[in-house]
Amino acid sequence: MSLDDARPRFATIANYEFSAVMRGRVVPIASVDDVLRVGLPWVPNNVCISALNTIPPDNPFGPMGETKIIALPHTRMVMPARQDRPAMAVYLCDITNHDRSFWEGCARSQLARTLALLEERHGLTLRVGFEHEFYIFDLNAEVFSAYSLAGARKASVIADEVQQTLATADARLDQFVPEFGYDQFETASAARDAMTACDHAVLAREAIRDAARARGARATFAPKPDLSAAGSGVHIHFSLWDRHGGARTAQSGALTATAGAFAAGILKHIEAVMAYSTPTPNSFQRATESSWVGVFACFGLRNREAALRLAPREAAADGSHPGASLEFRLCDGSANPYLAVATLVRAGMIGLDQSLDPPISVDRDPARIPQPERDARAIRRVPETLDPCLEAAAPFAPEWFGKTFWDAYSSVRRNDIKDAAAAGERYPALLSQII
Ligand code: GLU
Ligand code: MG
Repeated sequence: MSLDDARPRFATIANYEFSAVMRGRVVPIASVDDVLRVGLPWVPNNVCISALNTIPPDNPFGPMGETKIIALPHTRMVMPARQDRPAMAVYLCDITNHDRSFWEGCARSQLARTLALLEERHGLTLRVGFEHEFYIFDLNAEVFSAYSLAGARKASVIADEVQQTLATADARLDQFVPEFGYDQFETASAARDAMTACDHAVLAREAIRDAARARGARATFAPKPDLSAAGSGVHIHFSLWDRHGGARTAQSGALTATAGAFAAGILKHIEAVMAYSTPTPNSFQRATESSWVGVFACFGLRNREAALRLAPREAAADGSHPGASLEFRLCDGSANPYLAVATLVRAGMIGLDQSLDPPISVDRDPARIPQPERDARAIRRVPETLDPCLEAAAPFAPEWFGKTFWDAYSSVRRNDIKDAAAAGERYPALLSQII
């Protein structure tokens, strides 16, 4: 490849769709300005394609209709030139109706709308930081022990390059850590406004995949690529802020009344949230007890077996905790992060609207609490399959995201269940080749 290949001659205008796949159109750089101005036609049905490349027969779009993809200049990231391929620019985009009005099938637009509602109705904004766990297979033959320097060195070639790629989009990782599983790693991003955090999360996934691929390796964010090894979560850290920039998550080491009601809303409707945050059969292969996933609908101060954990960090002089976050652990890489965050906000707003009491902290692994005591304390095990989650989400969906959205989204999830059944034992491995 010549030096000139460092300058991208093509750009992909991409949307992160329901199956956690980035799909879009590729255009020459010379036409990007036009594309930014007028958009590009797109096919409504495309948001329904599964990771394994099947189309739900009952999706509401079929061959009909046309939407528009509108590229977002501030999300531009340049993927570096490789030995076997030139550089390429990526722009994230919104999908709109043809007249540029809001289109229900666009996950990113759904999040924007939900965040606007949180601000309008409750005067609150959300900051989000993501932790991503993932495997990198076949990078080299080095074996390392969990969290070791040897593991950090093994992946440092990826970490280093990913940081440079992300810098082209003004994004960065705050940590790149060897995780517990053999060849498993974790990245953490600093807290940003919720939309930027989601944009950077999906760009980071692609930068990591690309860096691995360039070295003949394969990165996967699938929740459970190998049933006998540690699963990979996407932990969503979030904090609430008022209109004056005041931290509203924790006070004097505990949840504020606002964050308490918000957390209680999430726990009350966790099954509905899971229809978006753990949306595939592989999600439920990860979601097992006593494996730090958080499969009990409860809150715990610093408890990694609770679905919601408070990490208070240091207190300021006035007792507030500007660095505090609530961590939602029941999310994974098969989820669309825009929808997962939007759904947490929707459920949280129910808690605010109903002024729900703050949850009481559970201070040990709920799996070790005898069932009668769990029942008495209303600590419930979340569903072990996707179906009950879809049932729980259905009544809320028209109000949260619209009827067409739900017809499309639920058709995708039902189709995933069919894909998984058809693939049988090969399903986790197949999925992990794509996401
Ligand atoms: N791998 C675990 C999960 O699936 C989390 C481990 C951790 O707390 O870092 O969520
Ligand atoms: Mg971890």
